[in-house]
Amino acid sequence: MKECIFCKIASGDIPSKKVYEDVHAFAFLDAEPLNIGHTLIVPKKHFETIDEMSSKELANMSKAIEKVSKGVMKLSEGMNILQNNNKIAGQVVPHVHFHLVPRYSGDGHVPEWGRKHNITEDQSNEFLRKIKSFLK
Ligand code: 5GP
Ligand code: ZN
Repeated sequence: MKECIFCKIASGDIPSKKVYEDVHAFAFLDAEPLNIGHTLIVPKKHFETIDEMSSKELANMSKAIEKVSKGVMKLSEGMNILQNNNKIAGQVVPHVHFHLVPRYSGDGHVPEWGRKHNITEDQSNEFLRKIKSFLK
């Protein structure tokens, strides 16, 4: 996509600190890292959110995710993989990307998300019924 910043990074039109590249995916250091080594992996083809991708297109990214994950895990103590879709989920750049965030002792980030203790059995069951019928 012409005006997309991550398309431009993946094609090399905008410079980045490249970590890894193959035919389908491009990985580079985040410009405003959450930790040292925070890496983004993007598909070279433009998709705004993950639900626009087919299983084949997702599978095409698996090699990049495998390779970079292994590198990050070697160089840190653990890792969070985040993938935001739409503004409500914190997506700022509308081109699918996986955040690989290395974790270090004492890095000040929370180890896990806050649990919602007020979700009822009915709410969970209603979601379950709907998603199962959608996935049929
Ligand atoms: P989102 O919030 O959309 O999931 O994440 C977008 C990420 O892209 C942010 O972590 C932000 O720091 C990073 N980012 C935005 N623009 C650029 C850029 O031009 N270069 C690089 N390397 N990272 C960027
Ligand atoms: Zn794009």
